[in-house]
Amino acid sequence: MKKVLIFVVAVIIGLFISLIIVSETKHSRQIEPIEKVVIPDILSGFEDRLSAAVQIRTISYEDVQLNDTVAFIAFHQFLHNHFPLVHERMHLIKINRFGLLYVLEGSNPDLRPAMFLAHQDVVPIPDSSVWKHPPFSGHNDGAFIWGRGTIDDKGSLLSILEAAELFLQNNGQPQRSLILAFGFDEEINGEFGAKAISGYLEEEGIRPEFILDEGLVLTHGVVPMIEKQVGLIGIAEKGYLTLRLVTEMDGGHSSMPDEENSLSVLAAAITKLNENSFDAHWCEPVMLFMDYLGPEMDFFPRLAFNNRWFFSPIIKQVYLSFAEGRASLRTTTAPTIFRSGVKDNVIPQTSEALVNFRILPGETIENVVVQVKKIINDDRVAIFIYGQPFAPPAPSPISGIGFETIMQSITAQYENAIAVPYLTLGGSDAKHYYNICDNIYRFAPYEMTGEDMSMIHGANEKISIANYRRMIEFYYRMIYMVCN
Ligand SMILES: [Zn+2]
Repeated sequence: MKKVLIFVVAVIIGLFISLIIVSETKHSRQIEPIEKVVIPDILSGFEDRLSAAVQIRTISYEDVQLNDTVAFIAFHQFLHNHFPLVHERMHLIKINRFGLLYVLEGSNPDLRPAMFLAHQDVVPIPDSSVWKHPPFSGHNDGAFIWGRGTIDDKGSLLSILEAAELFLQNNGQPQRSLILAFGFDEEINGEFGAKAISGYLEEEGIRPEFILDEGLVLTHGVVPMIEKQVGLIGIAEKGYLTLRLVTEMDGGHSSMPDEENSLSVLAAAITKLNENSFDAHWCEPVMLFMDYLGPEMDFFPRLAFNNRWFFSPIIKQVYLSFAEGRASLRTTTAPTIFRSGVKDNVIPQTSEALVNFRILPGETIENVVVQVKKIINDDRVAIFIYGQPFAPPAPSPISGIGFETIMQSITAQYENAIAVPYLTLGGSDAKHYYNICDNIYRFAPYEMTGEDMSMIHGANEKISIANYRRMIEFYYRMIYMVCN
């Protein structure tokens, strides 16, 4: 008995030691900046320009008839007036009137262009009374600029232009071409902006080396089990699918009802979908995220992340305990619309619901439909694809000048930060560019805590002037490193 006990203890100690050895031999995957970029003084009045840009109400409404075209024209005029070198030296092509495509020709035609995206439009304000400062005031309180778009996404549009203006002022003609593309309908899916711009570039035979769009940010206290700031670089995004579920059954008077009707059958189907979530597993971008994160963590989380073959179930439980974690581990199911019935004493003949799915990389639209049919398992529920689905694209590589320069720029700009690949859970204009580029990354250097995340599309959106200044420096550094 004693021998068995000694044997078990020895095995446990042996296992523990080998876990430690594996963990401690995994090295950091951070890339040090190759060159030290000297950043010139950024142009004075940068915060006033962001504040003024926020005051122009470039809102995208679901009902496009409501869109104020005058605001977009005013916004273009504003950019023209405030970024003189960009407008003098870069070629500006307007796509579908409001899409802005700026091209700075490089001297070396063998180098493919570097491309930066942002969008001009912002989401509407459902209730401005909950804002501390009016949403289109661009109020500057000395520390923050307030208003709709400061984070999504005029902050990055303006900081890219500030960086480009500064670059043109301090450098001659670059070797690599620089392309800036600013859509105007990202918040309503980018069909006329980004999609048309990418179509134009495809026709022109222009294939960028890499594309950098918004999508993920520099987080603080958001990624579990790590203290450092983590720059999340989106190397992939989830797919998008909405299914329309329809039941048609006999109606009639509600005084003598059958046991089931179209509404109750559909409700049962939705309940089944809610109760049977998709399988949770690590997709490629999330596995890479853990490979990069592991070596940067403190001893115990490092031990776990660097030995996932052993600790995976525990890490999974941690990630399944919060919404973002769950969304990175599985294809998500969200019923969003339910329509049925016209009168309280009439049994509805038809009921319909829309259910939105965000598909994990590696899975397909067909997969999801088959799975949904299997879960519902009721022929009375007809299932149709609604709108335009988007299959999850293959992840972009974690090598090459695009990814590497983004990483280097993050670690060079933010002292206590690391940069890791990740999966973008929402969508952005980037998804429209796969026809011309495989190296698409999503990162804008907004420094955000978990609490700050609620400002995106929410009330009291604001950015600190210090953060905004660092964003300009970040884009300057990137443009300098990739174009020169
Ligand atoms: Zn956005």
